[in-house]
Amino acid sequence: MITIDGSQGEGGGQILRTSLALAAITGTPVRIEKIRARRPKPGLQRQHLVAVQAAARVCNGHLEGAELHSREVVLTPQKPVAGSYVFDIGSAGSTTLVLQTVLPILLCADGPSTVSVRGGTHNSMAPPVEFLRESFLPVLHRIGVSATLELERHGFYPAGGGAINATIQPWQARVPLELRERGKAVGRHAEVLIANLPAHVASREAQALKHGLHWSHQEVDEREVPADGPGNAIIARLRHANVTAVCTAFGELRKSAEKVADEAVKQVRRYTATDAPVCEHLSDQLLLPLALGAGGVFRTGRPSEHTLTNAAIIARFLGEVVTITADGEAALVTVRGR
Ligand code: ATP
Repeated sequence: MITIDGSQGEGGGQILRTSLALAAITGTPVRIEKIRARRPKPGLQRQHLVAVQAAARVCNGHLEGAELHSREVVLTPQKPVAGSYVFDIGSAGSTTLVLQTVLPILLCADGPSTVSVRGGTHNSMAPPVEFLRESFLPVLHRIGVSATLELERHGFYPAGGGAINATIQPWQARVPLELRERGKAVGRHAEVLIANLPAHVASREAQALKHGLHWSHQEVDEREVPADGPGNAIIARLRHANVTAVCTAFGELRKSAEKVADEAVKQVRRYTATDAPVCEHLSDQLLLPLALGAGGVFRTGRPSEHTLTNAAIIARFLGEVVTITADGEAALVTVRGR
């Protein structure tokens, strides 16, 4: 049994997700203690509880401590099992983070799977669907993964009610990643998503975005989407030959439209401030797939606490497979495959 201290490093939900996936894939029982100890509301929130239950289901595992607000969980896994799975978070908790928990496990199963998750699809502090579909999955395709993701319905905090559907094929040929350069710029586009809010919110955000980024009218769209409650997000894409960056900002009660746009502008500027292809978020999310696959190398900006913490958790199961070295203003991340 491996014991993981959930308060280390970033001390959030990612420690839990990575540990569960690695336990299921390696067939090693895991005890995760002090879950999300560094968060204002520690322990398992709905999203994390569903991630725990989902991880156990896709490996026929046995769980102890899987209750709301629990700070300690034990998973005794069997082996990954392909199937058709539906997970309902029952709140606006992030569907994409639940998917990210089971995706690596089902890649190691013996047949194709489908996964539907219901809850939030556009949450602050989590990858929006567009990020997974346009930034994360294309890199996974390059390392031999075959998986698709579709958005069925938008879900925003606090109403939730969104749904995503994924298909996952067993991972056959594992290919090493080489992602040092962005390649030629091939386009950029931002979308202001709005649900059940006055139209002027979207137009003010679009206006502020165009002004802040010096993007043209054609490069910024406003889109009203159906959802159970109010919601607002800005999704900006920067497409390059080798990678697409997806930068986001989320509307909230009492946050002005101009502030939301300003956050999106800052995210885009942060990405364009260096020439590293892999953004901060993609960086922490690529470590596990690379460590399970044939490894590889990528260039990113200064490594985030999430990246360092994820590397430390992976090391507990697979050894010190992640090496990070300075490369001018960026960092070179090398991952040894299995
Ligand atoms: P908590 O932080 O409350 O414990 P959590 O489960 O959301 O809960 P974190 O450990 O913070 O857990 O992990 C969040 C994950 O979401 C990280 O992988 C991070 O890179 C990713 N993420 C956060 N914001 C974005 C974003 N705007 N775009 C893409 N990915 C994001």
